[in-house]
Amino acid sequence: MNQVEDIFIFIGPPGAGKGSLARLCLQHFDWIEISTGNLCRKHILEQTKIGKEIDLIIKSGKLINDDLMTFMVFEWFNENAKRAKGIIFDGYPRTIDQAISFDNMIHSRFPSVRLNVVWFVISNDVVIRRLCSRYICQNKECQAVYSLSPESSLAPSNDTLCDICSSPLGRREDDNESAVRKRLEIYHKHEEELIGFYKKTNHSIIELDASASLQEVFDNFVRCINKINR
Ligand code: AMP
Repeated sequence: MNQVEDIFIFIGPPGAGKGSLARLCLQHFDWIEISTGNLCRKHILEQTKIGKEIDLIIKSGKLINDDLMTFMVFEWFNENAKRAKGIIFDGYPRTIDQAISFDNMIHSRFPSVRLNVVWFVISNDVVIRRLCSRYICQNKECQAVYSLSPESSLAPSNDTLCDICSSPLGRREDDNESAVRKRLEIYHKHEEELIGFYKKTNHSIIELDASASLQEVFDNFVRCINKINR
């Protein structure tokens, strides 16, 4: 059985490439990941009690309640913390209250774990352009992300099917312009406070230029983690 040594907290706006970088990392390292957005969408597709509660909130681009989100993440963590040495958190913590709850839990239960913050920096214009051409695998266990933009390296081999599981591709309901603008507004409202909290508590912060290509972002990320671990 493994003991988790490193946690990577991915902080960045929607469309910054957090999920794509996470997938690439899983191909190269023996890590696991949790995407809280995917976890929420899975609940909605399965029409669980939580799914019914959060459906409309997610469609509108707003955040779901901190206590509920933290409950879902801790439950996942209890079941999965011993599966790998590295865990990526994509989309959590997203508010200062979530960050404090998570920090307290890790420090009390896993005091030797390194918490690494990975900060994706990218402009709203680039994000909006990316999200307008984003397509997602509709299989709730997969949810792989593609781009139909001609210059993107994330283009699927077939415009309508997932390269990984051959399920149909579709649009996310919250990738429409008004929900995207709401999500960006909420992200930027919390970003400064969240990064400020991690700076103040002396966590290592890896800052990535997320407008670069996925391969460049990955290479840069690997260079940074090698430096930290040296
Ligand atoms: P994402 O796939 O990360 O863009 O998340 C999609 C949606 O899931 C968000 O717009 C929120 O409604 C919800 N969500 C995901 N993670 C969180 C979180 N940490 N706190 C609150 N809501 C979240």
